[in-house]
Amino acid sequence: MEVKLLSARFDIEDGHKIEVAKKNGAYATLDKLFAMEPGEVIEEVKASGLRGRGGAGFPTGLKWSFLPKGLDKPVYLAVNSDESEPATFKDRYILVKDPHMLIEGIIICCYAINSHDTYIYIRGEYVSQAKALQAAIDEAYAAGYLGEKVAGHDFRLDVTVHRGAGAYVCGEETALLESIEGKKGQPRSKPPFPAVEGLYGCPTIINNVQSIGSLPFILTNGADAYKAHGTEKSPGTHLFGISGLVEKPGMYELPLGLPLMEVIEKVAGGVKGGKKLKGVIPGGSSTPVLLPEEAATTTLDYESMAEHKTMFGSGGIVVLDEDVDIVKLVKNLIDFYHHESCGQCTPCREGLGWMLKIVKKIINGDGTMDDVNLLRELCDNIEMKTVCVLSAACTMPVRSYLDKFRHEFEAYVQ
Ligand code: SF4
Repeated sequence: MEVKLLSARFDIEDGHKIEVAKKNGAYATLDKLFAMEPGEVIEEVKASGLRGRGGAGFPTGLKWSFLPKGLDKPVYLAVNSDESEPATFKDRYILVKDPHMLIEGIIICCYAINSHDTYIYIRGEYVSQAKALQAAIDEAYAAGYLGEKVAGHDFRLDVTVHRGAGAYVCGEETALLESIEGKKGQPRSKPPFPAVEGLYGCPTIINNVQSIGSLPFILTNGADAYKAHGTEKSPGTHLFGISGLVEKPGMYELPLGLPLMEVIEKVAGGVKGGKKLKGVIPGGSSTPVLLPEEAATTTLDYESMAEHKTMFGSGGIVVLDEDVDIVKLVKNLIDFYHHESCGQCTPCREGLGWMLKIVKKIINGDGTMDDVNLLRELCDNIEMKTVCVLSAACTMPVRSYLDKFRHEFEAYVQ
């Protein structure tokens, strides 16, 4: 079931080093790139149907085309490598195992959008990954793939690694920009959107590591070769992180559109110890949970997830077995998002704290049915009344656990 478009060099010994990467195809597409017009590159990426791999799934080429034309301002690329969503661990494979694929993708993107400065925002906890990335960037400068004349062409490109300090909210694109600017990492109100007014008030494209890492394959092999995998509306492959209670947790590159349960059983070896499945978190901790009967009819693509009232998210699949205590899971979830709230909106700052107190009260045996109802009500009242979606990243999944596993909350109360 695995298809290695992005992970083709992951298993090659020293594949992260520039000489080995080059022998195996890295930077080979640059002559083709510079022979094209920037607009043609954007059209090729649009034709591939590539969608943002950070979670939202917005079409990448379309995002680029939102940049205002004819402005006398620099355009920036910010690569989102914050990867802080619990259960998400795909981008770090690219950073460590094939950073030159990312750098080649950055060159492709920057040429297409006429940008000469890129910031890679990497989460603070990724210490070894940041070192590996910086080493690859240094190699790329030394080899002439970055700097004044990229691969000998009349095109300057500088890439800077910016390390975060460990705040989940800095994965939100405007908080990420604030943090790069040296300010407190708090999301901005939108509009204006970053494509119009982003970093230092200039037009900025923010793309996820995997989105950018997909570009060398698309440009080398063409949009049709990419679209040959996946479904019509969700083309290509995705790096899925499968974790939780499965026999073979790990990162797997798979075409989109595969049946979720087939992937859990055949790729990840099924539920650990042959236990019964209780539920599946399909795309990172902020995505609503699926019951086994829902998971049985879900395929790994944006459309099927939406039909099942959940989200594709980051491709971080978590398998829950029959022994998982859903109420304690919900407590951990709220605890995490409450801790990560940046504090500027009252419903998020105070509301998530209130939810945490209620669920702790239920676990401690002091809860009432009114508390369970209040928890559910708070989900509706907090969501979408805040500057960013962090609060919704908590309330959406909590609502799903309350609706689908209410009996577990009631059992604590009783
Ligand atoms: Fe900050 Fe939460 Fe408001 Fe987002 S929703 S801006 S994290 S307080």
